[in-house]
Amino acid sequence: MPRLPNRLALLAVAFLLLACSGGDNNAPFAMPPPSSETPAIDSYLVGQPQNRAGIGDVDRAFARYEATRSPMIATFQAQSWFTDGLTRDESLFVERAITFSARQRGNQAIISDETIRRKLYLYERVPMQSNEVELLVIHEPNQDAVRQMALLKAALPELEKLAGVVYPERVMTVINGPFEINDFDDGQFIRIARCCTLSAFVLSHELAHTYWSMGPSWFNEGLADIYAILTLEQLSDNRPEGWVSLPADIDEFYRGRKRIVDSGRFPDLALPRRLASDGLYEAADVFLLDIRRLIGVEAFSNAVRETYMTSDFGRYVLREKRIEDTFLKHTKSGDRDEIMSMFNRLIWGDNGEHYRELQEQEGP
Ligand SMILES: [Zn+2]
Repeated sequence: MPRLPNRLALLAVAFLLLACSGGDNNAPFAMPPPSSETPAIDSYLVGQPQNRAGIGDVDRAFARYEATRSPMIATFQAQSWFTDGLTRDESLFVERAITFSARQRGNQAIISDETIRRKLYLYERVPMQSNEVELLVIHEPNQDAVRQMALLKAALPELEKLAGVVYPERVMTVINGPFEINDFDDGQFIRIARCCTLSAFVLSHELAHTYWSMGPSWFNEGLADIYAILTLEQLSDNRPEGWVSLPADIDEFYRGRKRIVDSGRFPDLALPRRLASDGLYEAADVFLLDIRRLIGVEAFSNAVRETYMTSDFGRYVLREKRIEDTFLKHTKSGDRDEIMSMFNRLIWGDNGEHYRELQEQEGP
């Protein structure tokens, strides 16, 4: 079970992940520069939510990105609301917008001058179980961001309750823009394509990735789908303002996904080998919901919560063997063979040979 890594091991993992993410300066493990306001290294240790340096620090963002984002910085500096001093939400708007833009390839202005000039953002402090989360939505002209924010704001605490673990981020920034896909970006940004700014399912799915980004794709996407539906189920009785109906039913969702998977539309591939176009999402949803039906709702949520905790708030990426073992741990002995054969069929794509090999490598 969770090995508590020593500080060196943690740093090794940190740098490994830094390398995997392309060495981006904003990767969650980047060491903050020394300063009196910088949290001590201990705050990066096991068992604590993310504590990211520099969020809302406008001077730091200007200094860091002046070489690559000077036109955008100049646009901000030219606004009267900028020159008369920045409130907390204005600081977040400026810093998050620049940091997000700097992470994009090329120089395409995803956040337009009009968005900057007209201050097209909404900001809320959302009360959570033990803390609050600052939620920022940066949007485009003519979008109903009020309604979008109402959904996000209501979904966040429900998601935290369902996950059973304190929400791992203190600030979450949602950016609406000319994107081709919706995406959860490195724990800090959610990008929402124009199609989907008022899709309750898409918004909840991307929010759920705050937890479910620490495993293989099928695990992350399947759980993001499932927790999106579960969150919306919670909200349907107490709908956020502006939302006339929020139909969500996990059983109906399962049946719909199963119909698609059984239709023969997709190749019969193991989940780790599937892309979205091969039915990755649908097949992952059915696989995980089949496990949930077999072991029970409570055992399932305990198992995935334990898996998440093992990742230390998303600091480690977990592999299939660990995920299978955690499900097995939460499964009654009479059902374990069935879980193993499901994993063999849909994850390993064999009759158990690979799992046994991994077991032998781990030793007794
Ligand atoms: Zn997703």
